[in-house]
Amino acid sequence: MLFDIHAHLMGPEAPGRAFWDGFTRLAVVQTGRSEERVRQRLEDIWDLTGERLLRDMDEAGVERVMVMPVDWGLVPAFRDGTMDIWQQHLLHAQAVRRHPDRMVAFACFDPRRPDAVALLERAVGELGMVGLKIHPAAGFFPNDPVAYPMYQKAQELGIPVMVHTGPEPKPLYSRHCQPVYVDDVAADFPNLTIILAHAGLSAWWQEAAGIASVCPNVYLDISGWQAMARLRPLEFYTILHTLIGTVGARRILWGSDYPALRLLMSEAAWVKAITEPPQVARDHGISFSDADVAAIMGDNAARLLKL
Ligand SMILES: [Zn+2]
Repeated sequence: MLFDIHAHLMGPEAPGRAFWDGFTRLAVVQTGRSEERVRQRLEDIWDLTGERLLRDMDEAGVERVMVMPVDWGLVPAFRDGTMDIWQQHLLHAQAVRRHPDRMVAFACFDPRRPDAVALLERAVGELGMVGLKIHPAAGFFPNDPVAYPMYQKAQELGIPVMVHTGPEPKPLYSRHCQPVYVDDVAADFPNLTIILAHAGLSAWWQEAAGIASVCPNVYLDISGWQAMARLRPLEFYTILHTLIGTVGARRILWGSDYPALRLLMSEAAWVKAITEPPQVARDHGISFSDADVAAIMGDNAARLLKL
């Protein structure tokens, strides 16, 4: 089964206009396209219902997806043009309710919200969410004591916690997203399943792999690596090979981080990138066993979420 462990329902105000402004500025620099062209393409990828995502999944042969809101509501630059965080959760829950056989959702609340733990309980109890996402790019460290009641509650509820790792477009903060800060959490909550989203990206993937190698409760997701897979494939396959060698295929999860990454690669092409690595990888002696590919592409996610 193909299972995309990392996607979002996003529109102009979710997660917030400040994100799309930063994302656009970066895309202009990276792709050489005009700002106007990038903004037009954003309108094609925004999808607050999940219907577009499901069409892409059908085309790619992906059976299931985990979708989640992103809580940047406490970042000063996100004060305007950002949808209320509970409203974002309702949107995700509605999509799951329409497609219970295809979608599951995680909750995402900034642990600095005074009612964060109560919100998490409600998202799990009332909306049926099956995990928690923590997004330190909002400006807190994952090992800050302010986040500990959230981990405690997630452990009590028996749900996994995904923590964003890797640099983010501005005006978000990157230093909080270094994987090393999650090591404390893994040590203090050995029974909590923790997913390092994006495996630290190109900045910190070695740190992410190093931490996962000593924390059996830590998983890595490889969403967000489409840019390198497309532009520098040999580097990408070499790193993926090293991740599998260091951590084991059993704790690596495939995901897309859609819709933003759809600008770089379709869901179908991203599936194929892992299931059928290109000649350049084989030329350098890099290949993945069928069992490893099956584990990464969905079996691990299904096991982790008890589906
Ligand atoms: Zn994401």
